[in-house]
Amino acid sequence: EKVNLKDFCEKIVNRYQLKYPGFDLQYELKDVSTLHTDQVLLGSVFQNLIDNAYKYSEEGSKSLKITIFKQKKQIMFKFVDKGIGIPRSELINIFKKFYRVKSQYNQQGSVGLGLAFCKELLNFMDGDIQVKSTLGKGSTFLVTLPYVH
Ligand code: ATP
Ligand code: MG
Repeated sequence: EKVNLKDFCEKIVNRYQLKYPGFDLQYELKDVSTLHTDQVLLGSVFQNLIDNAYKYSEEGSKSLKITIFKQKKQIMFKFVDKGIGIPRSELINIFKKFYRVKSQYNQQGSVGLGLAFCKELLNFMDGDIQVKSTLGKGSTFLVTLPYVH
């Protein structure tokens, strides 16, 4: 279906500002306004990445900036947080089912499925997800999907 990205992002930002008061959640739409994709699946990917950005950031620096832009025949969604970061040696593990980085941030009620689920969904949608992170500084997740408009 044809998704209006501005409407989609507004809805998500409103929902998560309500869910997480004080969370600084922003988005920027660059040169792209609509996308043919499954809105529910894309929403699940956003949900997992937003929940993670909130959970794995310290009180007072809970923020997430989502930038959406085109690159060749792909659309990119960049999620940048200022959270606790992920050790370099763990980066290859975090997309595995039930994998969680050992830290005091490991919360009850989290099982380590969010990113594995995102990766499977995105593969199903002919997309992908990558991560960059600096321990103590923050993480960037880059989601790519084919740009069908
Ligand atoms: P679930 O998503 O099932 O509730 P979870 O959040 O622990 O549990 P994932 O979303 O798959 O599981 O993430 C796996 C691990 O990667 C997390 O346990 C956490 O250690 C690390 N991680 C994920 N996102 C971030 C982030 N934005 N900043 C720092 N660490 C992260
Ligand atoms: Mg998660």
